[in-house]
Amino acid sequence: MRDEPTLQLSEVFYSIQGESSFAGYPCLFFRLSGCNLRCSYCDAKYTYKEPGAATPLSALLTEAARYPNALIEITGGEPLLQEGVYPLMDALLAAGRTVLLETNGSLSIKRVPKEVVKIVDLKCPDSGMAGKMDLGNLALLAPHDEIKFVVSSRADYDWAKAMMGEHRLAEKAKLILSPVIGSLEPALLAQWLMADALPARLQLQLHTLLWQGVKRGV
Ligand code: SF4
Repeated sequence: MRDEPTLQLSEVFYSIQGESSFAGYPCLFFRLSGCNLRCSYCDAKYTYKEPGAATPLSALLTEAARYPNALIEITGGEPLLQEGVYPLMDALLAAGRTVLLETNGSLSIKRVPKEVVKIVDLKCPDSGMAGKMDLGNLALLAPHDEIKFVVSSRADYDWAKAMMGEHRLAEKAKLILSPVIGSLEPALLAQWLMADALPARLQLQLHTLLWQGVKRGV
Protein backbone atom coordinates (compact mmCIF):
# COMPACT_ATOMS: atom_id res chain seq x y z
CA MET A 1 0.00 0.00 0.00
CA ARG A 2 1.30 3.48 -0.84
CA ASP A 3 2.03 5.85 2.03
CA GLU A 4 -0.75 8.27 2.77
CA PRO A 5 0.12 11.86 1.72
CA THR A 6 0.71 14.33 4.54
CA LEU A 7 0.21 18.08 4.28
CA GLN A 8 1.71 20.86 6.39
CA LEU A 9 -1.32 22.69 7.62
CA SER A 10 -1.38 26.21 9.04
CA GLU A 11 -5.05 26.13 10.02
CA VAL A 12 -8.45 24.63 9.27
CA PHE A 13 -11.49 26.79 9.83
CA TYR A 14 -15.12 27.06 8.89
CA SER A 15 -16.17 30.55 7.86
CA ILE A 16 -17.84 32.64 5.19
CA GLN A 17 -16.10 32.77 1.83
CA GLY A 18 -14.91 36.36 1.72
CA GLU A 19 -13.14 37.28 -1.50
CA SER A 20 -14.26 35.75 -4.75
CA SER A 21 -17.45 35.40 -6.79
CA PHE A 22 -18.39 32.82 -4.11
CA ALA A 23 -18.25 35.49 -1.38
CA GLY A 24 -20.97 35.02 1.19
CA TYR A 25 -21.26 31.24 1.03
CA PRO A 26 -20.32 29.01 3.98
CA CYS A 27 -16.91 27.54 3.33
CA LEU A 28 -14.44 25.19 5.00
CA PHE A 29 -10.88 26.47 4.59
CA PHE A 30 -7.70 24.42 4.53
CA ARG A 31 -4.83 26.89 4.88
CA LEU A 32 -1.58 25.22 3.91
CA SER A 33 1.79 26.31 5.30
CA GLY A 34 4.65 27.80 3.33
CA CYS A 35 4.90 30.59 0.78
CA ASN A 36 7.49 31.38 -1.86
CA LEU A 37 6.52 35.08 -2.08
CA ARG A 38 6.87 37.98 0.36
CA CYS A 39 4.16 40.48 -0.56
CA SER A 40 4.48 43.92 1.02
CA TYR A 41 0.93 43.76 2.43
CA CYS A 42 0.94 40.13 3.56
CA ASP A 43 -1.48 39.53 6.42
CA ALA A 44 -0.73 35.82 6.68
CA LYS A 45 2.97 35.78 7.54
CA TYR A 46 2.33 33.02 10.05
CA THR A 47 1.82 30.69 7.11
CA TYR A 48 5.53 30.89 6.27
CA LYS A 49 6.99 31.88 9.64
CA GLU A 50 5.49 28.88 11.42
CA PRO A 51 5.95 25.32 10.19
CA GLY A 52 2.32 24.24 10.57
CA ALA A 53 1.10 20.82 11.61
CA ALA A 54 1.79 17.66 9.60
CA THR A 55 -1.69 16.40 8.80
CA PRO A 56 -2.62 13.20 6.96
CA LEU A 57 -4.89 13.53 3.95
CA SER A 58 -7.51 11.31 5.59
CA ALA A 59 -7.84 13.77 8.50
CA LEU A 60 -8.66 16.56 6.06
CA LEU A 61 -11.24 14.40 4.31
CA THR A 62 -12.83 13.56 7.66
CA GLU A 63 -13.01 17.28 8.45
CA ALA A 64 -14.54 18.00 5.04
CA ALA A 65 -17.21 15.34 5.66
CA ARG A 66 -18.31 17.24 8.79
CA TYR A 67 -19.50 20.08 6.53
CA PRO A 68 -21.12 18.20 3.66
CA ASN A 69 -22.86 21.19 2.11
CA ALA A 70 -20.10 23.79 2.40
CA LEU A 71 -17.67 24.96 -0.23
CA ILE A 72 -14.10 23.89 0.35
CA GLU A 73 -11.27 26.33 -0.24
CA ILE A 74 -7.63 25.36 -0.27
CA THR A 75 -5.45 28.38 0.39
CA GLY A 76 -2.15 29.42 1.94
CA GLY A 77 0.54 30.55 1.99
CA GLU A 78 0.94 29.01 -1.40
CA PRO A 79 -0.83 25.65 -1.53
CA LEU A 80 0.77 24.50 -4.80
CA LEU A 81 4.14 24.24 -3.04
CA GLN A 82 2.96 20.99 -1.43
CA GLU A 83 2.72 17.85 -3.52
CA GLY A 84 -0.05 16.56 -1.24
CA VAL A 85 -2.40 19.24 -2.52
CA TYR A 86 -2.98 17.23 -5.72
CA PRO A 87 -4.34 14.06 -4.06
CA LEU A 88 -6.32 16.33 -1.73
CA MET A 89 -8.02 18.08 -4.65
CA ASP A 90 -8.64 14.74 -6.39
CA ALA A 91 -10.19 13.19 -3.29
CA LEU A 92 -12.44 16.18 -2.62
CA LEU A 93 -13.66 16.23 -6.21
CA ALA A 94 -14.27 12.47 -6.08
CA ALA A 95 -16.43 13.09 -3.01
CA GLY A 96 -18.52 15.51 -5.10
CA ARG A 97 -17.33 18.67 -3.39
CA THR A 98 -17.03 22.15 -4.89
CA VAL A 99 -13.36 23.01 -4.48
CA LEU A 100 -11.78 26.45 -4.70
CA LEU A 101 -8.01 26.88 -4.87
CA GLU A 102 -6.47 30.23 -4.03
CA THR A 103 -2.97 30.52 -5.47
CA ASN A 104 -0.50 33.40 -5.59
CA GLY A 105 0.09 33.28 -9.34
CA SER A 106 3.79 32.43 -9.25
CA LEU A 107 3.45 28.68 -9.84
CA SER A 108 1.93 26.82 -12.75
CA ILE A 109 -1.68 25.69 -12.39
CA LYS A 110 -1.14 23.08 -15.13
CA ARG A 111 -1.68 20.07 -12.85
CA VAL A 112 -4.72 21.49 -11.06
CA PRO A 113 -7.85 19.57 -12.10
CA LYS A 114 -10.13 21.51 -14.44
CA GLU A 115 -13.09 21.13 -12.09
CA VAL A 116 -11.33 23.07 -9.33
CA VAL A 117 -12.19 26.78 -9.33
CA LYS A 118 -8.84 28.51 -9.42
CA ILE A 119 -8.58 31.98 -7.88
CA VAL A 120 -5.27 33.20 -9.22
CA ASP A 121 -3.56 36.37 -8.02
CA LEU A 122 -1.90 38.68 -10.50
CA LYS A 123 0.35 40.54 -8.11
CA CYS A 124 0.46 44.29 -8.78
CA PRO A 125 3.74 46.26 -8.60
CA ASP A 126 3.24 47.62 -5.05
CA SER A 127 3.25 44.05 -3.73
CA GLY A 128 6.90 43.84 -4.81
CA MET A 129 6.10 40.48 -6.43
CA ALA A 130 4.79 41.38 -9.89
CA GLY A 131 7.97 40.07 -11.50
CA LYS A 132 7.35 36.62 -10.00
CA MET A 133 4.11 35.89 -11.83
CA ASP A 134 3.83 32.86 -14.13
CA LEU A 135 1.97 34.47 -17.02
CA GLY A 136 1.73 31.07 -18.69
CA ASN A 137 -1.20 30.50 -16.31
CA LEU A 138 -3.31 32.96 -18.28
CA ALA A 139 -3.64 30.40 -21.09
CA LEU A 140 -4.70 27.68 -18.64
CA LEU A 141 -7.70 29.42 -17.10
CA ALA A 142 -11.29 28.31 -17.58
CA PRO A 143 -14.33 30.62 -17.53
CA HIS A 144 -15.21 29.52 -13.99
CA ASP A 145 -11.76 30.60 -12.75
CA GLU A 146 -10.94 34.01 -11.31
CA ILE A 147 -8.04 36.45 -11.52
CA LYS A 148 -7.59 38.66 -8.50
CA PHE A 149 -5.73 41.97 -8.42
CA VAL A 150 -4.96 43.25 -4.93
CA VAL A 151 -4.61 46.99 -5.44
CA SER A 152 -2.61 49.32 -3.16
CA SER A 153 -2.48 52.52 -5.23
CA ARG A 154 -3.47 54.29 -8.44
CA ALA A 155 -0.30 52.93 -10.04
CA ASP A 156 -1.43 49.39 -9.18
CA TYR A 157 -4.87 50.09 -10.60
CA ASP A 158 -3.42 51.43 -13.85
CA TRP A 159 -1.20 48.34 -14.09
CA ALA A 160 -4.19 46.02 -13.54
CA LYS A 161 -6.20 47.89 -16.16
CA ALA A 162 -3.35 47.63 -18.66
CA MET A 163 -2.98 43.88 -17.98
CA MET A 164 -6.70 43.36 -18.53
CA GLY A 165 -6.48 45.06 -21.92
CA GLU A 166 -3.17 43.62 -23.07
CA HIS A 167 -4.06 40.01 -22.22
CA ARG A 168 -7.84 40.26 -22.84
CA LEU A 169 -8.32 38.84 -19.39
CA ALA A 170 -12.10 39.23 -19.28
CA GLU A 171 -12.31 36.60 -22.03
CA LYS A 172 -10.32 34.15 -19.93
CA ALA A 173 -11.77 34.35 -16.41
CA LYS A 174 -13.75 36.44 -13.93
CA LEU A 175 -11.84 39.51 -12.76
CA ILE A 176 -11.66 40.85 -9.22
CA LEU A 177 -10.20 44.09 -7.88
CA SER A 178 -9.60 44.13 -4.14
CA PRO A 179 -8.21 47.15 -2.26
CA VAL A 180 -5.47 46.79 0.34
CA ILE A 181 -7.25 48.06 3.42
CA GLY A 182 -5.20 50.80 5.06
CA SER A 183 -3.47 51.66 1.79
CA LEU A 184 -6.33 52.39 -0.59
CA GLU A 185 -9.79 53.69 0.23
CA PRO A 186 -12.31 51.18 -1.18
CA ALA A 187 -14.59 54.01 -2.35
CA LEU A 188 -11.75 55.48 -4.39
CA LEU A 189 -11.16 52.15 -6.11
CA ALA A 190 -14.90 51.97 -6.74
CA GLN A 191 -14.78 55.42 -8.40
CA TRP A 192 -11.90 54.42 -10.68
CA LEU A 193 -13.63 51.19 -11.60
CA MET A 194 -16.88 53.00 -12.39
CA ALA A 195 -15.11 55.71 -14.42
CA ASP A 196 -13.44 53.11 -16.62
CA ALA A 197 -16.28 50.55 -16.48
CA LEU A 198 -13.73 47.77 -16.43
CA PRO A 199 -15.13 44.22 -16.76
CA ALA A 200 -14.14 43.52 -13.15
CA ARG A 201 -15.87 43.17 -9.84
CA LEU A 202 -14.94 45.24 -6.78
CA GLN A 203 -14.35 42.90 -3.86
CA LEU A 204 -14.15 43.84 -0.21
CA GLN A 205 -12.96 41.14 2.15
CA LEU A 206 -16.31 40.11 3.60
CA HIS A 207 -14.75 38.14 6.46
CA THR A 208 -12.77 41.19 7.64
CA LEU A 209 -15.98 43.22 7.71
CA LEU A 210 -17.84 40.51 9.60
CA TRP A 211 -15.10 39.76 12.13
CA GLN A 212 -13.18 43.01 12.47
CA GLY A 213 -9.74 42.72 14.00
CA VAL A 214 -9.72 38.91 13.93
CA LYS A 215 -6.57 37.84 12.11
CA ARG A 216 -6.88 34.07 12.01
CA GLY A 217 -9.61 31.52 11.56
CA VAL A 218 -11.95 33.72 9.51
S1 SF4 B 1 1.33 35.17 -1.55
FE1 SF4 B 1 -0.09 35.45 0.13
S2 SF4 B 1 0.81 34.36 1.89
FE2 SF4 B 1 2.42 34.64 0.34
S3 SF4 B 1 3.47 36.53 0.95
FE3 SF4 B 1 1.90 37.09 -0.57
S4 SF4 B 1 0.08 37.64 0.63
FE4 SF4 B 1 1.49 36.50 2.00
